[in-house]
Amino acid sequence: MSEPKVLTLKMTRREEIFEILKHEKRSAQELANYFRVELKWVIEDLYHLAKSAKPTYDLRMFPAECKRCGFIFKERSRIKAPTKCPRCREESIQAPLFIIERKI
Ligand SMILES: [Zn+2]
Repeated sequence: MSEPKVLTLKMTRREEIFEILKHEKRSAQELANYFRVELKWVIEDLYHLAKSAKPTYDLRMFPAECKRCGFIFKERSRIKAPTKCPRCREESIQAPLFIIERKI
């Protein structure tokens, strides 16, 4: 994962996630690895960002997708990656990706 474009020591992890997702799509696990925290803390941050302290932005989620057949996991696993494709049994699943977009 590349360095975020905006990074100051004064920012909280949640603010940093906000800045990262304004520029690039990331999965919750990628963020957890980057910040070296457990996935559950990133999930909590994402829930908070989704509710949004900042009314001019939206947290968008791209659902998990099977890398083999393209099956999209619309209902299950809103944030964590599912482990197996129900259609082709593939275990290589693209985790849900998040991005923050400015509301129009
Ligand atoms: Zn599949």
